[in-house]
Amino acid sequence: MPTSKEEIRRKYGLTDEEYDPIDALSLRPSCEHCDKPLPPDATEARICSFECTFCADCMERVIGNVCPNCGGGFVPRPPRPARHWRNGNYLGAFPARTLKKHKPVAAAVHAAFSEEIRKLAPERR
Ligand SMILES: [Zn+2]
Ligand SMILES: [Zn+2]
Repeated sequence: MPTSKEEIRRKYGLTDEEYDPIDALSLRPSCEHCDKPLPPDATEARICSFECTFCADCMERVIGNVCPNCGGGFVPRPPRPARHWRNGNYLGAFPARTLKKHKPVAAAVHAAFSEEIRKLAPERR
């Protein structure tokens, strides 16, 4: 992330309303389960509302749309623009996080955890 909000705001001449980077996704660099790289332009990255991040394969085959950390469902993670189109909202000013989180899911543990949760649609959990 850039050094300070104020610095970016000044650089691009933005009002506080135009500039809201606090809410930007961190764009975690890899799948939490299999450690596959998931760069900012990856179309197979899946995230929960807390941004627990998995590849589409692991989300479908291993964890079954139940986040092992929070129990929530997943959606595709949007790619962050690599080009500066507007207001400094691009990868150059807000690079993807580089710190990995590799915490493979134990199948038996997840099966027990998700057994009841998976019966509920994500919006009802
Ligand atoms: Zn994976
Ligand atoms: Zn989660």
